Amino acid sequence: MISLEDAQARVNAGIEILPAVDVAIADARGLVLAEEVSALEAIPPFANTAMDGFAVRADDLEGVATDRPTELRVVGTIAAGAVAERALERGEAMRIMTGAPIPEGADAVIMVELTEIVAGKTMNGIVDGDDDESGRSDSERENDGGGERVRCLAAVPVGNHIRPAGDDLGAGAVVFEPGEVLSAHHIGVLASLGRETVLVHRRPKVGVFSTGDELVVGPQVLAPGQIRDSNRPTLLSLVAEAGFEPIDLGVLRDDFDEIEAGLRSAVERCDAMITSGGVSMGDFDFVKRVLMTLGDLNWMQVAIKPAKPFAFGFLFGTPIFGLPGNPVSSAVSFELFARPAILKMMGRPDTQRIQESAIADEPLLRSKDGKTHFQRVRAVQHGDGWHVRSAGGQGSHQLAALAAANGLAIIPDGDGIQAGNRVQVMLL
Ligand code: AMP
Ligand code: MG
Repeated sequence: MISLEDAQARVNAGIEILPAVDVAIADARGLVLAEEVSALEAIPPFANTAMDGFAVRADDLEGVATDRPTELRVVGTIAAGAVAERALERGEAMRIMTGAPIPEGADAVIMVELTEIVAGKTMNGIVDGDDDESGRSDSERENDGGGERVRCLAAVPVGNHIRPAGDDLGAGAVVFEPGEVLSAHHIGVLASLGRETVLVHRRPKVGVFSTGDELVVGPQVLAPGQIRDSNRPTLLSLVAEAGFEPIDLGVLRDDFDEIEAGLRSAVERCDAMITSGGVSMGDFDFVKRVLMTLGDLNWMQVAIKPAKPFAFGFLFGTPIFGLPGNPVSSAVSFELFARPAILKMMGRPDTQRIQESAIADEPLLRSKDGKTHFQRVRAVQHGDGWHVRSAGGQGSHQLAALAAANGLAIIPDGDGIQAGNRVQVMLL
C-alpha cells in the first residue's frame, strides 16, 4: 500500500492546466481567468444621483432647515436614461431619478423625503395644487415644470448623493488579474465593462463510464445477481457539482474488447475520463488490464478505507481515473483524486475541500489496519465550533449513509476517536 499523499502526488504530477479559450461571460462562472481585465471606460460613465429627489445647487440651500425652509423653481425632470435639456440656474431645482445624470450647474441632490411640493406635480406626476396665474398654456407650463415649486427642508453639502464618474472603476484601471476564479459577481463586473466574452481556461469535459456485468439501468425487475448502476449518476452529478462538464458514456460490460472500444471511442471527446469498477484484484477487473495494455497505467493500493484500489493513467494523453466499484468507494475516490486533479486542469488554485477540526459527539471507532479511514459523518456548527456524529453504516456499499453525510471524518490508524475528542473533518 502507498500513502494517500503519495497517491495524490502521483496523480497531480501528470496533470496539466487546459488551454485558454474565449468563453461567453454567461458560461464563465467557476472558470479561471487567463487574461488581465481592465476597464476601457469609467464606471459609472457619468456623475449620477444615488437617490430620487431634486438636483440643486448646494449654496441655494445654505442655512436651510425644517423651521427655515426655502423654495426652488422646478424646471424639469430627469429620468434614468435621459439627460437634462439645459443647465441648472440659481434658484432652480430639477426632479431627478436614481441613476439619472446630474445636470450641469447642479452640485448636489436633496432626497425627495426632505422636500415638499408646493404646487404642481408630485414625484408621482399628480397635480396637487395650482398657483400659476401667468395664463400660460399647459404645454408651456409642462416645459418649465408647470410653475411647480419645491420646498426644501434641509441644507445639503456639495456632492450630496452624487456618484461621480469612475467612482466604481476608473478608465484604464486593472480590474482582475489572471488566475481569478470567476464568480457571479465577477460576471457582473465583466458585463458592466461591456465584455461579451472572456479568456479563461476551458471547462473540462469529463466522461463517466460504469463497468460491470451485474449492472442494470432503468426500473426493470432485477434478475438474480443484478444490481442497479448507481455510480454513474452519482459521479456525473459530482462532476457537474465541481463545475466540470459531464459526459455520460454509459455502462460497459466486463469484457476486454468492449472496454477497450468504449475508452478509445470516447477519449477524443473528453479532457478526462472516470470509470468505476474493474480495478481490483478480481478475475473480471478488465479496466485495469485494458489501461495497462493501451495506456500508461499507475495501479495503486492506497492506504485508505474506503477506496483502496485506484488506477490512474493516460490514454493518448487524456487522464483516466479508474475508481473502485463499491458505491461509497467510488464517491470517496472521486473526492480524493479526481476532483482535485480536474480542478487543477481548470487552473483552480482551490483544489482541496475545506477541513475543520470537530468534536466527536459520539465514538467514531475503527480497528487498526494500517489505513486512514474516511468515515461518513454529519457535521454541525455550534457556538463552540464543529461537532460530528456518524451518518450511519460505514460499509463501502452503504450509499444511504453517504447521502446522510455532509463530511468525511479523517480517522488515523488506531482504535478511532472517543466521544469528546477532536477529529479532522473534510466538509463535502
Ligand atoms: P468492482 O470494483 O467492479 O469489483 O465492484 C465492486 C463492487 O461494487 C461490486 O459489489 C459491484 O457490484 C459494485 N459496483 C460496481 N459498479 C457499480 C455501479 N456502477 N453501481 C453500483 N454498484 C457498483
Ligand atoms: Mg466489477
